[in-house]
Amino acid sequence: MNEKNNIFVTQPLLPPLEEFIPYLEKIWDNKILTNSGPFHQQLEAALCEYLGVEHIALFTNGTIALVTALQALRITGEVITTPYSFVATAHSLLWNGIKPVFVDIDPNTLNLDPNKIESAITPHTTAIMPVHCYGHPCDVSAIQKIADTYNLKIIYDAAHAFGVKDQHGSVLNHGDLSVLSFHATKVFNTFEGGAIVCADAKTKQRIDHLKNFGIVDEVTVVAPGINGKMSEINAAFGLLQLQHIDKALVRRKEIDLFYRGRLAQLNGIQCLGDAGEMDANYSYFPILVGTEYPLTRDELYEKLKGQGIYARRYFYPLISDFPMYRGLPSAQRGNLPVASDAASKVLCLPIYPTLAQQDLDHVVNVISKGLA
Ligand SMILES: *Cc1c(COP(=O)(O)O)cnc(C)c1O
Repeated sequence: MNEKNNIFVTQPLLPPLEEFIPYLEKIWDNKILTNSGPFHQQLEAALCEYLGVEHIALFTNGTIALVTALQALRITGEVITTPYSFVATAHSLLWNGIKPVFVDIDPNTLNLDPNKIESAITPHTTAIMPVHCYGHPCDVSAIQKIADTYNLKIIYDAAHAFGVKDQHGSVLNHGDLSVLSFHATKVFNTFEGGAIVCADAKTKQRIDHLKNFGIVDEVTVVAPGINGKMSEINAAFGLLQLQHIDKALVRRKEIDLFYRGRLAQLNGIQCLGDAGEMDANYSYFPILVGTEYPLTRDELYEKLKGQGIYARRYFYPLISDFPMYRGLPSAQRGNLPVASDAASKVLCLPIYPTLAQQDLDHVVNVISKGLA
């Protein structure tokens, strides 16, 4: 059993149970459990409005949404992507028989470095799959410029980017498609869940067919689709969660500010760039443990763990170091010096709305004492 005073890197956003009961009663009354029922339709509409996007297709999880997004655009051959992400990003390519080509990241944002994309393009390249890592937007205009020049599609893995806005509005409106995850560990969750954001009704319809076996009507199947539909119970939970998300984001921002204030002065501890003018979601709080800090990243990780603080090494190991990828030429360490360096230094600190002030003080004190 977990001890009461353990502090994890995240805790799921769970609204009061009694608020969920009326939703369940509705499902029991109308006996619609899935297949684009009323809660599914309501959540799609509510998310379009909340996020500021044109169309959204809900999925059973973010990984099936990524796999389906690649199918929707008929992506083949090679796709340029980042090694510095959760492993599902590259797995979605392998599930489509696509070869991932890893390109190094920018040292300031830890997102795909647009300056290194062009030299990785070959005649087989059909698309770019960048990740808005930690919810920090990629250099979307530089990536779009390259895609336009070489006639490539862009699918953003936006699993971390729920609610993030830049000066043009939702960051989810960039590229051809954006994919969200509503997994329990994410800022906005439906227990398990995900979505594809797209700009036009025709693409939305193709995605809706693909997530329902390719079925159009009783006698018509137009594509070898998958079963990726979100159930009514998950959609209902999403609708409830949407009523609590703004409060949760406010608290996350406070925690982000607290950490920045307390950690900024510590020798050898670097906080990743703050959100500036942008609407951020404060989904993660990554620090980089540098050589001037008296402990290595792994020593600090163990020390925190000894104090009941379960920080996480997101993203270590790099995707390109896992056995199904490491044989690729682009997976070699020499091709990915910035990503390799970040993976050896990064530590994500606890950040979630119900984190108590005394827990935050405890985290900061343990890190500060590393210096004493
Ligand atoms: C969580 C996550 C996914 C996978 O989403 P699931 O909903 O868990 O399938 C994909 N990419 C990134 C970057 C993620 O963090």
